[in-house]
Amino acid sequence: MMILDKIDQLLKEVSQLSAKNADDIEQLRLKYLSKKGEINAVMADFRNVAADQKKAVGIKINELKKAAQDKINSLREQVASADTGDNHEDLTRTPYPIALGTRHPLTIVKNQIIDIFQRMGFTLYHGPEIDDDKHVFTMLNFAADHPARDMQDTFFISQDKSDVTKNVLLRSHTSGDEAHYMETHEPPIRVLCPGRVYRNEAISARAHCFFHQVEGLYVDKGVSFTDLKQVLLTFAREMFGPDTKIRLRPSYFPFTEPSAEMDISCNICGGKGCNFCKHTGWVEILGCGMVDPHDLAACGIDPDVYTGYAFGMGVERITNLKYCVNDLRLFSENDKRFLEEFQSAF
Ligand SMILES: [Zn+2]
Repeated sequence: MMILDKIDQLLKEVSQLSAKNADDIEQLRLKYLSKKGEINAVMADFRNVAADQKKAVGIKINELKKAAQDKINSLREQVASADTGDNHEDLTRTPYPIALGTRHPLTIVKNQIIDIFQRMGFTLYHGPEIDDDKHVFTMLNFAADHPARDMQDTFFISQDKSDVTKNVLLRSHTSGDEAHYMETHEPPIRVLCPGRVYRNEAISARAHCFFHQVEGLYVDKGVSFTDLKQVLLTFAREMFGPDTKIRLRPSYFPFTEPSAEMDISCNICGGKGCNFCKHTGWVEILGCGMVDPHDLAACGIDPDVYTGYAFGMGVERITNLKYCVNDLRLFSENDKRFLEEFQSAF
């Protein structure tokens, strides 16, 4: 039967259609689906079909119409998706802007501190963050009833009621690294101990439950306070500029004797006086002193032969001064707006 043969032929044609672009598709649409198209021509012949064949032929014609429409639609999708590739693909172009990370300001400043002291001959040592009372307090001459041992100040992991020196805790200062190092090394010792420390404090703009310190220790024959002062002056000038002045004020730490706190001339107002330095022209940056002979002896170093100095500073404190950061919480909140300000720092 002629009309069924024609329909089969068209079905075959339609299934093999292909198109390169939207114009090709429009031509195919006109050829098959328009008023003057092939399918309508078949339908015009429909009236000549014998009555008993009309149903079968009708089904076939509908099948053909649907196949043609589906084919045109799928060609449109193919061309549309290929289009994006053909017209916009540039293999040399990065697919999206790649955000470069930045070093954390505390890392930047810690590395600067390490760099300065390494140039003066200090080596690096990293002590444990989880430590015991013996190294963090006892060997450093903290009295048994010293408030630093209180639960209010230190995070304890386990407490030993029979022997307080066996208490396990999160170190509250890096000074414990001095005990670890002196215990296992012979003088001359010239070591720098950077690290994270923990204190049981409420978090605010000025206090945090964790922060970072760098501890320095020098033990040898004939080490004097003058050596300490010269090293700290060199550090201050390298860190804050060649015009920086320092002053040492008497202070007290259990593990140094004599002890001092060091101020530098305010690097924000240049020493003239501003809100940051409370109009004194000076800001405190670190604590220091001569290692207490008791500590040397506790670590197996003969205090009659050797002397030493130690100093410790807060990395956050130095960073605040260098970059005028006024809220400690910014360092641990991971606010990209804050972190991206340090993109140009090394
Ligand atoms: Zn000032």
